[in-house]
Amino acid sequence: STVSANNFLHAIIEQDLASGKHSEIVTRFPPEPNGFLHLGHAHSMCINFGLAQKYNGRCHLRFDDTNPEKESQEYIDAIQQDVKWLGFDWDGEIKFSSDYFDTLYDYAINLIESGDAYVCDLNAEQAREYRGNLKQPGKNSPFRDRSVEENLALFEQMRNGEFDEGACALRAKIDMASPNMNMRDPIIYRIRKIPHHQTGEKWCIYPIYDFTHGQSDALESVTHSICTLEFEDHRPLYEWFINHLPVPSKPQQYEFSRLNINYTVTSKRKLKALVDDGVVGGWDDPRMPTISGMRRRGYSAQAIRNFSDMVGVNRSSGIVDMSMLEHAIRTDLNDNAPRAMCVMNAVKVSFTNFEAANAEGGIAWMTQPVHPNKPEMGERKLPFTDSVYIDRADFTEDTTLSRKKFKRLVLGEYVRLRGSFVIKAEEAIKDADGNITEIKASIVPDTVGNNPPEGMKPRGVIHWVSCSEGVQAEVRVYERLFDHEAPDFGGRDHMEHINQDSLQVIESCWCEPSLAETTPEQGFQFEREGYYVADRYDYTADKPVFNKTISLSESKGK
Ligand code: ATP
Ligand code: MG
Ligand code: MG
Repeated sequence: STVSANNFLHAIIEQDLASGKHSEIVTRFPPEPNGFLHLGHAHSMCINFGLAQKYNGRCHLRFDDTNPEKESQEYIDAIQQDVKWLGFDWDGEIKFSSDYFDTLYDYAINLIESGDAYVCDLNAEQAREYRGNLKQPGKNSPFRDRSVEENLALFEQMRNGEFDEGACALRAKIDMASPNMNMRDPIIYRIRKIPHHQTGEKWCIYPIYDFTHGQSDALESVTHSICTLEFEDHRPLYEWFINHLPVPSKPQQYEFSRLNINYTVTSKRKLKALVDDGVVGGWDDPRMPTISGMRRRGYSAQAIRNFSDMVGVNRSSGIVDMSMLEHAIRTDLNDNAPRAMCVMNAVKVSFTNFEAANAEGGIAWMTQPVHPNKPEMGERKLPFTDSVYIDRADFTEDTTLSRKKFKRLVLGEYVRLRGSFVIKAEEAIKDADGNITEIKASIVPDTVGNNPPEGMKPRGVIHWVSCSEGVQAEVRVYERLFDHEAPDFGGRDHMEHINQDSLQVIESCWCEPSLAETTPEQGFQFEREGYYVADRYDYTADKPVFNKTISLSESKGK
């Protein structure tokens, strides 16, 4: 399949299964609940849940919750919802790293007892100085040779809250001269006198990420622990802990290059700044690259998963072009979105010979397929009445424009109304300022589904909505949130590259009546306009609200 061609982990896993190293593969998706998930996490989920699906294994959802000050239940709830929406289901109960705090505490004691960990009283500044740098080996802490008994007693006092934050920390005793800075006696437990969303007041010391992650993997029998390349030089430490502790299994860490995409940012911290500063309406604002933002924008889960497959899993870093994501979105919507008509900037066209429409009770019903290539999606009925709205941009009095340049309605010429009659523009009515307020037009009889008589050549096909039967809607049009291709690269601050014009609200569009009867989150192709979605929260039958998902084609705008 296209997927396996693009994922170096497939060969590794197939080898592990063939050799009998593993009989079942177990992966995990380990978000920290300190924000909403974004496109990068979507990619990670597709990889981890995708591997479990492909090899008939399991994938856990584990909240990596070792920094209680930044984490919250709100994020935990939102993350679960996003995982499900993207189409994945975790195996068994949701896990938390904090489920393992007791075991991790015992593991820390194991390390103290084997002489592999010590309580260090250096303050942050001193510790930095002792650590050295890439060119210079570090120096051993003066506390490194404390006895096992003294360390056990001090660690217990740490746990009992007898020291202030920062007064001391538990460090692994590895190698202060290691060329890998992560191996220079890393801190494994620090004092934090704050309650935790899962464990409450139980702990005032918390394990750091590196001491938590691998052991949690081992406790869950994870076989392949897949992370981004920034963690490559943490791997020796990951393995050191696994090899020095009585863990029940030996997971292996693999790294791939993180997903970077232009014109946006994928970092919870940076996205949170947009929310906190009110640049956007919330984490799920349709302009956000969060999963909930993309959802509200009208991106489908399938399209996001397709995009992830296209990106693939590899170790070479690069920046993916936004057009690749947009291509995946467009392809999916073109294949699946029902068609509908919506006039964004309406001008009225009234018919001088409406009797030619053979209306009953003022309405002549037209029929159109819901989707041009999918008859199974059915048909829709469009009421045609004595006046209709068309878009102002679809009419001109300028008769010099060539047929090629202007395939719409020109004064004195013909155009077809989509799925309905060919009409001729007879007269433009104007107000005192010269603005067109109404167009008088005549219907060419018998032209629904039929060509007009010789000599009446329509310039093109335009969309329309009945004035009396159409429904007023609000449409929200979004542009890029950032005005720079790489808003957070090269030392740039993404907050200084906000596109100030990223939202335009069109208050009174006119749409076909069926659009008042749809459901929130239903996507459509508004013919000739683009792809739109009924807003997840604000859409109601009384006041339909649609978000623009994306233009019809790349050339027709962003
Ligand atoms: P952020 O900086 O946005 O908080 P993170 O990596 O710290 O990102 P976590 O919640 O720790 O966020 O990530 C959960 C999983 O998602 C990790 O395995 C992480 O590697 C993966 N992940 C996060 N961002 C990306 C990305 N841009 N591309 C691929 N995977 C990612
Ligand atoms: Mg992280
Ligand atoms: Mg992070």
